[in-house]
Amino acid sequence: MTSLYDATREDIEVLLEDQPAFRITQIWDGLYKQLLEPEKILTLPAALRTQMTEMLPTALNSVTTSISDKGDTVKFLWSLVNGGHPIETVLMHYRDRATVCVSTQAGCAMACGFCATGQAGFSRHLTTGEIVEQVVRAARESAKRKQRLANVVFMGMGEPLANEAAVWGAVERLHADIGLSARNLTISTVGIVPGIRTLADRPLPVNLAVSLHAARDSLRDELVPINKRYPLADLVQACADYLLKKNRRVSFEWAMIDGINDQPQDARELARLCKRLRPAAHVNLIPLNPTPGWPTKGTSPEGVREFARQLEDLGVNVTIRRNRGTDIDAACGQLAAGQPIKLGARRVVTAE
Ligand code: SAH
Repeated sequence: MTSLYDATREDIEVLLEDQPAFRITQIWDGLYKQLLEPEKILTLPAALRTQMTEMLPTALNSVTTSISDKGDTVKFLWSLVNGGHPIETVLMHYRDRATVCVSTQAGCAMACGFCATGQAGFSRHLTTGEIVEQVVRAARESAKRKQRLANVVFMGMGEPLANEAAVWGAVERLHADIGLSARNLTISTVGIVPGIRTLADRPLPVNLAVSLHAARDSLRDELVPINKRYPLADLVQACADYLLKKNRRVSFEWAMIDGINDQPQDARELARLCKRLRPAAHVNLIPLNPTPGWPTKGTSPEGVREFARQLEDLGVNVTIRRNRGTDIDAACGQLAAGQPIKLGARRVVTAE
């Protein structure tokens, strides 16, 4: 059975073929403009609301909702109705708007050793509807705080560009029906080069973030294993082409690992790489968050600031990402949805 947010407008027209066109518009606007559950679309007759709920069930069962940062960060743990896999979504409130971080797969096959999702392994791809539903349900939560959900980042569990078609379906729904601007949508990738190229051919200019973490192949091969398939030269070329085509800033994420990628040499290598994308590369430094399967520590706060200074001196645009929700395991790289991690399954990079 198609889930509520997987159904296209045409699917709903077919399902409710006896209904006049204006009813379909009421349903579609209720779902995507007002973000209502079908039973709360009061412009519809009660029988139709019931029929909708029965024919088009939702795809996410709420398991727990955890709150941190005095309510500013909310983590939702869901279980997928289809298969029962756990996934997570993180809602972050800022002063005047909210951002939601959505998962695109249950688990992840990319096996980055420092990431809790990678440590747990891959279960399955999410559908477009399962991704959209995360946004809709987070938007309802942020509306309770009178905040508008303005940004969506595809930075939760999973590798978006390993599931590009479903992710793109979600982008289109968010843009065309919910009305989010493409400049407020960010897809983050571990560096799947063919996926970046596909994205470059898509019609909307969404932001591209690349989880770089190392600017030399020998180190990146260890931190981000997919680098062996798509090495830095190819990755940077794909980013440069994306930039040229979309005229959008590309950002690089850099999780700072003590003694591993936070040395002056690393700053120099990163600055050299950024120059190939000038003027539009931006570096986000993320202090490494603790995960159960990775022994190395994050760089100290002073170390992170020092690294940022070195990059600035080398002419790089850099920001330090504020850590959100570490106490509820909602921060970057901590989403494992309570899955057991495979300890000892990976090679460990040590500080020596
Ligand atoms: N698979 C995509 C989407 C996930 S985004 C990608 O890799 O880009 C999650 C971000 O958090 C990525 O930049 C990832 O590299 C980073 N990350 C993973 N583990 C982390 C950790 N332990 N501490 C800080 N950042 C981490």
